[in-house]
Amino acid sequence: MSDRHYTLTNVRPWGADPMDIVIEGERIADIRPATASPGASDVDGGGLLAVPGFINTHSHVDKSWWGKPWVSYTYSDHPTVEGWIANERAQRGKYDIPNAASTASVLREFLRHGTTATRTHIDVDLEVGLRGLECLQAALKEVGDAIQVKTVAFPQDGVLRRPGVLKLLDEAAQAGADYIGGLDPGTIDRDVEGQLDGLFDIAVTRGVGLDLHLHDFGSLGVYEFRQVIRRTIDAGLQGRVNISHGFVLGTLPQSVQEEIVEGLAEAGVSWTTVAMGGTAPLPWQQMRQRSVPLGLGTDGIRDLWSPFGDGDLLRIAYQFARLHGLRHDEKLTNAVELATRGGAHFVGRNVHDLVVGARADIVLLDAENVPDVLVRCPQRRLVISGGRVVARNGEVLV
Ligand SMILES: [Zn+2]
Repeated sequence: MSDRHYTLTNVRPWGADPMDIVIEGERIADIRPATASPGASDVDGGGLLAVPGFINTHSHVDKSWWGKPWVSYTYSDHPTVEGWIANERAQRGKYDIPNAASTASVLREFLRHGTTATRTHIDVDLEVGLRGLECLQAALKEVGDAIQVKTVAFPQDGVLRRPGVLKLLDEAAQAGADYIGGLDPGTIDRDVEGQLDGLFDIAVTRGVGLDLHLHDFGSLGVYEFRQVIRRTIDAGLQGRVNISHGFVLGTLPQSVQEEIVEGLAEAGVSWTTVAMGGTAPLPWQQMRQRSVPLGLGTDGIRDLWSPFGDGDLLRIAYQFARLHGLRHDEKLTNAVELATRGGAHFVGRNVHDLVVGARADIVLLDAENVPDVLVRCPQRRLVISGGRVVARNGEVLV
């Protein structure tokens, strides 16, 4: 890795004038106006537009049947979270979920679409134990660690209602999981305080962060947000706690939305969304003004929850833009920023951009400008991850 040294010539960072990007090892060493024709060891960028690698801040790479024959969706058209969980538990054994090969297939799809880092939830429960985390490690080895991954040990089947899960989460934290997950404490465990007590305890004791799936609506959902905000401050976990989904936020009166966004800012709690169709728009501009990190994610793709999803985070940014009614160039650019440099916080980076010193995660696309990138989601012509060319013209090279 460290002996890698070449220049990516003639690219347009964020649609600007043509530049040469000098890469040394895993990092960007220099960016300068495009000059000479490429040398033998250089990579010709062909005047394509360059953006930083996409960061998928909410994925589930262990759940997918990607790479296997089509699995028809057999659960309800009017699903509930509880029903989806039961359906997944009943069927996953039949499809050998989790397994390293499918997980590696998902990681390759991410790379093909230009995602160079992800924060993924991995199921931890009484049946699979920590096997999903082991599959992920094997899958990463299979793709030569071409994608950077942060892991969330995720109690999809509940915490307190399944005695033994807290202990498993604690073991996962000791085994290297970066975050502990949680899920609807009010409806799944029916004990908001109990679940949060258990999770915050592990976070403090083991020095890991928290990333909580919250889908509850109405006053229960608001109560859970307030609990997470208060406990984050009390535990001194500012900057290390994230709320995933939080669908209720967009449905609340403006004054309550403002209170919650203010609370998130004060507690340093971040937010991830998968911009699901049919959900209420988020107060994303207020979050931006208050510096609340907001990340985009694909959620699960092609799994027992839904056959949809192809692992392309740019298409999630497109979905985000449509859901929030974005049309102006500046706002369309904001959506691409959310999917790229805006994701830095979620994978433990201070900076993730086309700047000197940053990790050389670079995606080239044939587009006129950044808004054009968003509205067309064109093919990723070249994907560089940590200085290494990992995909070209839709073909994964790892
Ligand atoms: Zn999820």
